[in-house]
Amino acid sequence: MSKLQYILGIELGGGHATCGIVHRTGVVASKTIPVASGALLRPLLPSLEGILRQLMLGASIDMSQCCGVGLAFCGLVDTRRNRVWCIGEKYNDAMNLNLELWCQETFGLPFQLENDARLALLGESVGGAAKGANDVVMILLGTGFGTAAIMEGELVKGRYSLAGARGGHFSISLEPTKCFCGNLGCVETEASTWGLNEISRRSEFMSLSRKAGQTYSDFRSLGKASEEGDPGAIALLEHCIRVWGAATITLIHAYDADTVIMGGGAVKASPRILPSLTQYIQRHAWTPWGIVDVRPALLGENASLLGMTTLFETADAVPNPIGRT
Ligand SMILES: [Zn+2]
Repeated sequence: MSKLQYILGIELGGGHATCGIVHRTGVVASKTIPVASGALLRPLLPSLEGILRQLMLGASIDMSQCCGVGLAFCGLVDTRRNRVWCIGEKYNDAMNLNLELWCQETFGLPFQLENDARLALLGESVGGAAKGANDVVMILLGTGFGTAAIMEGELVKGRYSLAGARGGHFSISLEPTKCFCGNLGCVETEASTWGLNEISRRSEFMSLSRKAGQTYSDFRSLGKASEEGDPGAIALLEHCIRVWGAATITLIHAYDADTVIMGGGAVKASPRILPSLTQYIQRHAWTPWGIVDVRPALLGENASLLGMTTLFETADAVPNPIGRT
């Protein structure tokens, strides 16, 4: 067996952390644990280390066969400095942590940090829905509206590692609704899991609901109420689909994409979301060359773990994992 085949992967999501042993051909072993709201990252590190060591033991994989530790972060990251740019309501200490040092001291391995949507796109490119696509945007409908893009086979990153990653903070509304990012009328303040409770309190939706004072905090319950025919839930879900559709079209226009990959838990909250989004995007995107291909993500939470194999030189890595011709 050749050495340096495996990556130790950690994915930090809005409400969970997943650890995995990853090979270019797939995720060998993984374990997900829930993470409480307001959790810090430093106290979580010993648990993450313990799980990774357990997984390695279970899969009979030695540290000498691993070439690095990747971390998918649910926020903006500076990949040049391996630091988190800013934080949301979770992992508030992440900006001040030297994770490179932690990784070196704990595992004796190099460390690479990357944004979760970007890694999900890379993973889908390696072995999922974006395989073979050279001009593609990824939408991750999780806690927020995560985005990433590949243009002509190259991952879009930019000088500050922020290009393509801030689709959730495009201005979509001229209403002065302030977002945590400082911008007004962001995609995420108009349609996201973290913003849903506040959005559902608007009179335009609440006044239509059958139940007085009805609010929603996640898309699963909104999707269910919508399927049951509640007019307020239907109007709110349609509003969110329009926001996501318009934001996706902006990404298509910005990055010249012909393919869209839709991932994240909220996509599955209602059977009407993906067909309605696809219809909106295909009807309204200005793409004189033809019709945008909208595909559901195939790899789920494994996507960002698999994407980590592109961050390191594994023994069996191919020169261009994205599949540029
Ligand atoms: Zn914002």
